[in-house]
Amino acid sequence: MRLDTVIFGGGAAGLWLLDRLSRDGHHVVLLESNALGAGQTVASQGIIHGGLKYTLSGLLTRSAISIREMPILWRDALLGRITPNLTRTRLRSECCYLWQTDTFSSRVGMLGARIGLQVKSEAIEAEERPAALANVYGTVARLPEQVICPASFIADLADQYRDRILKIDVAKGLKFRLGSPGEVESLILKSPTDGAELELRPGQVVFTAGAGNARLREMVGLSADVMQRRPLHMVLARGILPELHGHCVDGARTRVTITSDIDDDGRTVYQIGGQLAEDGTKLEPRALAEVARAELTSVLPSLDLSQVEWSTYRVDRAEGATGNGARPDSIQVLCAGNVTTGWPTKLVLAPILAQEIASRASSPYISAAFDPTPIAEWPRPEVAALPWQEQDRVWWRLPESQSTPIRRAA
Ligand SMILES: Cc1cc2nc3c(=O)[nH]c(=O)nc-3n(C[C@H](O)[C@H](O)[C@H](O)COP(=O)(O)OP(=O)(O)OC[C@H]3O[C@@H](n4cnc5c(N)ncnc54)[C@H](O)[C@@H]3O)c2cc1C
Repeated sequence: MRLDTVIFGGGAAGLWLLDRLSRDGHHVVLLESNALGAGQTVASQGIIHGGLKYTLSGLLTRSAISIREMPILWRDALLGRITPNLTRTRLRSECCYLWQTDTFSSRVGMLGARIGLQVKSEAIEAEERPAALANVYGTVARLPEQVICPASFIADLADQYRDRILKIDVAKGLKFRLGSPGEVESLILKSPTDGAELELRPGQVVFTAGAGNARLREMVGLSADVMQRRPLHMVLARGILPELHGHCVDGARTRVTITSDIDDDGRTVYQIGGQLAEDGTKLEPRALAEVARAELTSVLPSLDLSQVEWSTYRVDRAEGATGNGARPDSIQVLCAGNVTTGWPTKLVLAPILAQEIASRASSPYISAAFDPTPIAEWPRPEVAALPWQEQDRVWWRLPESQSTPIRRAA
């Protein structure tokens, strides 16, 4: 089958690119080895950052500059005003909150406004606070950063392009034919269900497979050490909890980032990241859950955590290597031969990555309309389960805490 482009990896990056190239008239197919969004995207917190979190050092960092246009673009896509049309993506919240611990002097308030971000924080009155933040000490600010359900976002985009998304078995069902390192002439796929073979002959190949990019690059004779992984150990807490989306900041650090959702049994689930998840990589799950409970007791004094069930999951952020292991300032794109490798660095930057790769791509080679007949019977991948919906997930209660929660008036 002749194609303009083959994309590997159906997370945020690959699917946004699939939409972009399809609309640009490319004959393009996306190959997924697991479930769509299975690496980072479905495990992410789904915050459409506007960069304010990245200005807490008081500087307009490069991260903040590349992110600042994104909330408006996503908002328009979620409303169906622009393409891709994301009207079937579930919005968890219209905004996030930023609050502080009592150990640092207020710098959250109007910081965004001072340094010219598109997204500005706005200090709110005590009666406007969400229930979870009722008793926190100091300023609470509202950020117009939306929070999406990443699994529904992946399903929304994938449903629009089902005819060109294929499931593959990388270990047993994928072979590249190379002209030279980084020059893919064709690839041979073996169907994971019936062993049928399919030859694809693309003009270009794009790797947007997150952590899978390293192995794919090796398979086409390119270096794998251009990628870095930054591990996280995230915490889940479920029970009768008030809805909450936001960051508790302590100086330039984000002490915890909490987003919430409702599970199939009507319980609220907190997904807890931030510094806790960075430091938690050294801890075993139960020890980390203990630390998380102490953190929540300290940063959200009004919460009753006595009946909460806990769980954790480990996930690596996969990004272009920066040399010192720090988070890249923006997207990362590498081109060699007819192979392009991309990492968006943040979910919210997937549109910028798609734009960058599309702008470097040659014009569509094939002028006839895309005909999916040769791949009509090929197996299709599912969308990955949200971390708290995974079938083998283990939950536990913590023994009663010895420490007395510190309660303060707002
Ligand atoms: C815990 C956590 C929270 C986060 N929260 C946020 C947030 O709130 N906001 C934000 O903007 N960003 C957030 N991020 C970052 C964001 O999730 C990632 O930058 C983004 O999702 C990366 O998308 P991706 O498509 O490059 O990779 P992935 O989502 O990892 O997708 C890669 C896809 O490729 C597939 N694949 C792997 N190997 C192969 C192969 N050999 N062949 C074919 N397919 C393959 C995988 O199965 C997967 O479907 C978070 C990240 C983490 C880990």
